[in-house]
Amino acid sequence: MNAFSSGAAVTGRFAPSPTGPLHLGNAWSFLLAWLAARAEGGRVILRHEDIDPDRSRQEWMDAIERDLRWLGLDWDEGPNHGPHGPYHQSLCRHLYEKALDKLRARGFVYPCYCTRKELRLMAGAPHGAADGLGDEGAAYPGTCRHLTPEERAHKEAEGRKPALRLLCPDDEVTCFDDLVLGPQRIPLQRCGGDFALRRSDGVWAYQLAVVVDDMRMGVTQVVRGEDILLSTPRQLLLYRLLGGDPPSFAHIPLLHDARGERLAKRHKSLSLAALRESGCSPLAVVGYLARLAGLQEKDEPISPARLADRLRREGSFPWNALPRGPILVPDGAERRWKP
Ligand code: GLU
Ligand code: ZN
Repeated sequence: MNAFSSGAAVTGRFAPSPTGPLHLGNAWSFLLAWLAARAEGGRVILRHEDIDPDRSRQEWMDAIERDLRWLGLDWDEGPNHGPHGPYHQSLCRHLYEKALDKLRARGFVYPCYCTRKELRLMAGAPHGAADGLGDEGAAYPGTCRHLTPEERAHKEAEGRKPALRLLCPDDEVTCFDDLVLGPQRIPLQRCGGDFALRRSDGVWAYQLAVVVDDMRMGVTQVVRGEDILLSTPRQLLLYRLLGGDPPSFAHIPLLHDARGERLAKRHKSLSLAALRESGCSPLAVVGYLARLAGLQEKDEPISPARLADRLRREGSFPWNALPRGPILVPDGAERRWKP
């Protein structure tokens, strides 16, 4: 809990990208996000992060809602109901535009004309990736920060469409208390450098969209995979520049398979649809995940609602019970979830 959320009821959220079917790893983060909010009598919002029109599909949004309900996870606000709509990022472009104007007025936005190929070439020494911290390859070295108006005009005349980047203060060090990982102290320059707010094809960037939406929806608690940890300093900077109160963050360990790969869409037998269709019980799936989270000792089947009741009686979510580092899901684990 941080200074901004103490005392007030928690508002958590599910923020899925509808680019494919949900799998066990998504169920893991959504279950924890839901329980962490419900443990404190809080609310949960569902927001479809369908910001990339090429990758997002209505059928996946429908599937996500069905899968969440199958698991026993509900939400208080979401598509079609609630005071903080729209709950689809594709309908919020005007809001991202407004936030961009605000950042631009403060002098923090500049056009970047680099092509993907140029960015790859510049990335000769990928310090971001090499120290294991980079989630997007090498840091952008700020090449287009100081282009003169003439240079910009020249690039435009060549027909180049710019991306828009945020000018990140060089010496910014972000400190925050992670509910799972504890105190963090991360130099912003290790988070990919000046990051994109809008791609050259006009698609809004995740970093901006997620902050604008979490801010306007009053989200006070963000529970997500630790693979996103390095996005948090960038998002905290946006909170500061846009004048919003940041939520508290819990970056949770990811589920991995027996080969050490994180669970993802390609683990087809662990998609929630496959589990449902092969006759697995959602209570068994939840019971298994609850045991992984340290919430119960055995894989006993249980509903999210019963877990939440228990946690509410205990008064808070036991973040300390979560294991550290990647969590192994052995091959064939799903065989045990059939009655
Ligand atoms: N849509 C993002 C994802 O699915 C959400 C990340 C977040 O929770 O901030 O990765
Ligand atoms: Zn550039």
